[in-house]
Order: sequence, then structure tokens, then C-alpha cells
Amino acid sequence: MKLAMIGFGQAGGKIVDKFLEYDERTGSNIVRSAVAVNTAKADLMGLERVPEENRVLIGQARVKGHGVGADNELGAEIAEEDIDEIQGAVDNIPVHEVDAFMIVAGLGGGTGSGGSPVLAKHLKRIYTEPVYGLGVLPGSDEGGIYTLNAARSFQTFVREVDNLLVFDNDAWRKTGESVESGYEQINDEIVTRFGILFGAGEVESHGEVAESVVDSSEIINTLASGGVSTVGYAAEEVEAQSSNGLLSKITGEGEDSMDSANTTNRITSLVRKAALGRLTLPCEITGAERALLVLSGPPRHLNRKGIERGRKWLEEQTGSMEVRGGDYPVSDSGFVASVILLSGVHNVPRIKELQQVAIEAQDNIDEIRAESEEHLEQLVEDDDDELDPLF
Ligand code: GDP
Repeated sequence: MKLAMIGFGQAGGKIVDKFLEYDERTGSNIVRSAVAVNTAKADLMGLERVPEENRVLIGQARVKGHGVGADNELGAEIAEEDIDEIQGAVDNIPVHEVDAFMIVAGLGGGTGSGGSPVLAKHLKRIYTEPVYGLGVLPGSDEGGIYTLNAARSFQTFVREVDNLLVFDNDAWRKTGESVESGYEQINDEIVTRFGILFGAGEVESHGEVAESVVDSSEIINTLASGGVSTVGYAAEEVEAQSSNGLLSKITGEGEDSMDSANTTNRITSLVRKAALGRLTLPCEITGAERALLVLSGPPRHLNRKGIERGRKWLEEQTGSMEVRGGDYPVSDSGFVASVILLSGVHNVPRIKELQQVAIEAQDNIDEIRAESEEHLEQLVEDDDDELDPLF
């Protein structure tokens, strides 16, 4: 599936950069065009792969290239004011060649958190292609303001996109790691999952013995449930096939029934692991409206029976009537991976918890503001009001 990716804010830009690296490394061709938008000049300059002409600095009149300092209301205002500048970069995208737009942003900050929903609304008004969001939730250790930003942005962003795919930093952070190296790893995890998912719809048949390749329309139809989505992933190493097929001869891998049974079992077990393991947004999978199962790996390790069983199992687990499935053949891969997209999930305790913490943070902020006005008043005014200010 070909995407026009727009990274909004620092996290968004970095993640889009990573997708470009993934494309280079794997030859996936998911990112047809990449744009980065920011209010901070330094963040835009730090990107490696987004073409320079597609990096848009907005809000120069307001913040002089220094960013909005986690003020997402300001981020939203600036995006509205400078929407024409963003559109200028979007105009470079050959939209007839893309299947969808994808706006990527960290929801806890200011620029991406506030600007993404504004851009989504704008794109939806102008284009007929679907507009998806990839929203990153902050870690719970980041503090009240980030949680409040994320909760407010989440509410707004979901309404403006065709589907919001969510990644929760909190579920993925490791203790004792520097924030930067932590993000490096987390961004790899993000790109692996979404890379396989969106790469699946981009397979051209090079004579691969694919049994039922996932088409980009199946990804689009799964996401058409709207609402919020999460992605599961599990992988297992298999021996890679050498380019001349020698290995398969040596190991005797063939189409005999034993191998086929092993393949089927491996696939069903990978499907379970992906659905029941750590999701990009942890949630209850029961009640997901739609699902898509993608099995990637060397074609001889994929089979229709395994995918069919996995698909049936997912139907039972989710209660959904719309579970699609297919494969994504990658001949030279040393892994078989299962990626599951659960679309239209409803039972997400993490979001309820985020909202609760956000409400508390909002109350505290209001209280502290009121108090500090009072304290300043007490400090500045002399006790018996004997002094007069100059004017
Ligand atoms: P903005 O530039 O004002 O939009 O804000 P940032 O993108 O810097 O930060 C927003 C949030 O994104 C932070 O609160 C973090 O939770 C998260 N974040 C920042 N950088 C990264 C990153 O490289 N990867 C991931 N996964 N999250 C990040």
C-alpha cells in the first residue's frame, strides 16, 4: 500500500524518517512521499531522509523557529494559520499514486499534538483518499501536561481521521534506559509492525508462489470501521533459503504432509502470540469491529490452511464477522511473522486511565494558576495599600 506520510512535530518527523529507512532497507516502497512539519527548526534539520524541500517550518512569525514548548493549543492555532504552507508541500505529492495519507505524531507534545487534527481535517476536506493517523501516546512517567495534551489531542484526532492507529510508549518503555536510545528501539518496533502491515498490500508478483496475497483494498476495508486501531506482532526465525534454492534441497523441505502440518501449526501459534502478546495499544481484543491477519515470510513457510485457521480463531476471539487474512511473501526473509490489525477496538482501559490522569492534571493546573495569581497579588501589594503604582 502506498502512503503519503506526513510527520508532524519531532516524534512524527523521526518516525517518518525511520519508515524511509525501512523502505530503503527492505525495498518495501510503502512511503510514496514524505513530508515533515514542525515549529522547531532544529528538529527539522535533524531529519536524515525526508527531502529538504518537503520540510515545512510553520509558525515562524509566532515562535521564530523555536517550537511551541508543549503548548498544543498554540500548536493547533499555528497549524490553522499556516495551513497554506503545509498544503504547499502536500502539493508536491502525486496524490493519484497514493492509497492514503498517514499523519504521524506524538500526542503528548505541542506541535504534532495540536497540529495533526487540524491537518487531518484539512486533508479530508480536500482529498477523497482516506486520511489515517498514527498517534503515539506518552509514557506515564512524562508528567501531567503530556498526559493532558495527549488526552485532548486523542479526542480531537480520532474525530478528524478515518482511523487512528495508536502506539503507546508507556507499554513499550524499558526502565534504566536513556530516553533517546529508548526511542530508537521503540521507533524500530513501530516501523516493523506498520511496515509489514502496509508493505503487505504492496507485493508485486515476481513469480512468488503466494497463495492469497493481501491487497491494499483489504487494509483499507479493515480500517474503514473507523475509530481506533491497534496492531499485534509475533515472529519466529526460520532458515533462510539461499538464492539458488540449495538449502531447501539439503534440508529436504518440501510439500510433504509433515512439513505442511508443521507450517500450519507454526502459523496458528504465531497468530495467537500476536493477538495475545503486547499490542501497540494494549486493549481487550473482544469486540474489535474488524481485523486483518497478515503472515509474512518465505512462501514455502506460508500456507492457506494455517492462515485460514488463524483467521477463524481470530473471529472467535474478537466476535467480529469481518476478519480478513492473507500472506505477504518475502523470499529472502529468515523470519515468519504474523501481524494483526485490530480495527475499531472499544475496550481500552489505558485510554480511560489516560483521561483520568489528564482530568486530575487539568484540575491541578487550574488550581495552581489561581493560587499563583493570589500569591503574586500578595507579594506585590503592600499590606496597607499605601503605595500607588506609576500607572
Ligand atoms: P512536538 O515536537 O511538540 O510535537 O513534540 P514531540 O514530538 O517532541 O513529543 C511529543 C511526545 O512524543 C513526547 O511526549 C513523547 O511521548 C513522544 N516522543 C518524542 N520523541 C519520540 C520518538 O522518537 N519516538 C516515540 N515513539 N515517541 C516520541
